[in-house]
Amino acid sequence: MGLSLRGLRLEELQDVCVAAGLPKFRAGQVFEWVQAKGAGAWDEMKNVPASVGEALAGAVDLTSLEALKTQVSRTDGTRKYLFRLGDGQTVETVLMLYERKVARDRATVCVSTQVGCAMGCAFCATGLGGLVRNLEAGEIVGQVLEIMRQVRQEDPEFRVTNVVFMGMGEPLQNYGSLLAAISLLNNPKGQNIGMRRMTVSTCGIVPRILDLARDNPQVTLAISLHSARDEVRDRLVPMNRHYPLQELMDACRKYIEITNRRITFEYALVKGVNSSPQDARDLARLTEGLLCNINLIPVNAVRETGLERPTEAENAEFARILTEAGVEVSLREEKGSDIDAACGQLRKRQGGEFLVLNGKV
Ligand code: SAH
Ligand code: SF4
Repeated sequence: MGLSLRGLRLEELQDVCVAAGLPKFRAGQVFEWVQAKGAGAWDEMKNVPASVGEALAGAVDLTSLEALKTQVSRTDGTRKYLFRLGDGQTVETVLMLYERKVARDRATVCVSTQVGCAMGCAFCATGLGGLVRNLEAGEIVGQVLEIMRQVRQEDPEFRVTNVVFMGMGEPLQNYGSLLAAISLLNNPKGQNIGMRRMTVSTCGIVPRILDLARDNPQVTLAISLHSARDEVRDRLVPMNRHYPLQELMDACRKYIEITNRRITFEYALVKGVNSSPQDARDLARLTEGLLCNINLIPVNAVRETGLERPTEAENAEFARILTEAGVEVSLREEKGSDIDAACGQLRKRQGGEFLVLNGKV
């Protein structure tokens, strides 16, 4: 098996072409077929002679991710895909559609960066089974390309407009592949997704936050905060024991200084744990003066964790305290919870059957 074609930058593909005795310009053609149009076979590449595919077949691998299962939410059209990777491992990926009145509709793909996750956050389904392995750049980009290919069969104009690295795994623990995937998705000859339309979400790996500020200053950074108190955050997000709040907030301040970009803080509201009025006041104090917004997410059900959401009145009160303190705050629009596609509900599954909920896919 050769290098994954979907993970190769244009310059790398040029080297592969030259090494295979092909002219350099073939690399540009193949790159566009794969990265812009999502080609999954050599014979789909109309202006590329079969001899090119034959010359490259030993060096690169074009097999795409296989969608074992696709589920479509009955309530909002959110789609969840279970993809099988080359070695038989599986990851889940989510497509969220937002209708807009003016500009073209937004289509956000939530990609996975690891099979499983080593971080063990208390509320999250992904972390339950630990980490299996990192994804390669081609496997991360491949999730976007495969979804685009499938949806284009129904709607040839379909485009993925946004990517959030918020699926399975901790993106900053797979840093090299993350950067490569960002660069590929951003390439004007590929998906051409603007840096600002990509969001990297992390549980708070401090040194990598600073690396990201220097390497990719334009992507949007989201920090999974979930508590403004170390003793609570230690339990919810175990990485806090390595990088406690003060270090994390210092890194955030440096990040903003370097990039001039607003940070999003994600805060899953859990009944009886982090959702009291005092918790809200602590959060307002922690983020005071920082260029940021706070995204409140009533915790999504994961059977094994036993954690519950606060009441709607408690959530509203929490948001009100923050707003009054001058913090920009939103309650996250919930997508796909009827198919377990909401935040924290993605997990490694035993694939096999192909399930269609509304007959569209
Ligand atoms: N590992 C990264 C990105 C993937 S998790 C991170 O932790 O940031 C994406 C987001 O979902 C994170 O903010 C995470 O804290 C949140 N999340 C995890 N489980 C959740 C749950 N059960 N309910 C609501 N949000 C959850
Ligand atoms: Fe990993 Fe993020 Fe889940 Fe924590 S919330 S276990 S970091 S995927």
